[in-house]
Amino acid sequence: DRLRLDGRVALVTGGGQGIGRGFALALAEAGAHVAILDLNEATANAVAGEVRSRGREALVVVGDVTVAADCRRAVQAVVDRWGRLDVGVNNAGVGSWADAEVYPEAEWDRVLAINLKGVFLCAQAEAQVMIPRKYGKIINTASMSAHIVNRPQNQVAYNASKAGVVHLTRTLAAEWARYGIRVNSISPGYIHTPLVESEAVRHLVPRWLEATPLGRLGEVEDLQGAVVYLASEASDFMTGHDLVIDGG
Ligand code: NAD
Repeated sequence: DRLRLDGRVALVTGGGQGIGRGFALALAEAGAHVAILDLNEATANAVAGEVRSRGREALVVVGDVTVAADCRRAVQAVVDRWGRLDVGVNNAGVGSWADAEVYPEAEWDRVLAINLKGVFLCAQAEAQVMIPRKYGKIINTASMSAHIVNRPQNQVAYNASKAGVVHLTRTLAAEWARYGIRVNSISPGYIHTPLVESEAVRHLVPRWLEATPLGRLGEVEDLQGAVVYLASEASDFMTGHDLVIDGG
């Protein structure tokens, strides 16, 4: 079964909650051992427990994707533990809302550092150990906001960062194809995560539903098949692609 990941080893950044947790558990269910790189030790440990309860091994590295040394440390921890890294899921990211004409420079730098530079730094660390083995799967979390200006419209840094992730993905795919490394991205639409319950965005849900032909928010489960597919041999002839999962 080319969709199985038995014996494979995956690293998921931002795997402590939300979409990253969903990715970690899906990879574990498909057979992979999973390492989590996250700022939040408690939530990452909880997800590691959920991975173990599915019969796989898990590892937590507390660190920041904007720090190159942390990305390298996470990859090294994986290699020390399992001798290899097959799948890197660069998912950690943050939202941010402010009108463009007054958007704070420091906030621009923070969002771009986490959402775009963080993806690059971890992908780079992952590729360094994949290249000698001539095989690897890198999956980056972008967003429908890479393609459209959604509601709320005051997400200038977020939208730019996610458009950057999509083209970074194509660029790395082209550059690392010769090493057998496939680099693809997943662009979720409106996904039902804790963010949606927050004061800041709850009032927007009716508009989101109106803008979604399938008439509901996505659930984390709606993204799980995609990450397993992109991590597996079933997608071996696919690279540089962005898979949009947004209800239409
Ligand atoms: P979330 O806030 O629920 O989880 C993000 C996780 O990343 C947290 O565990 C957090 O601790 C971790 N994290 C944040 N900054 C980090 C850093 N610098 N280093 C390491 N870990 C860090 O977010 P989510 O909703 O699950 O989103 C995950 C990804 O999906 C993000 O890239 C986000 O932009 C993207 N996305 C989300 C939605 C959505 O509707 N929720 C839609 C499209 C794209």
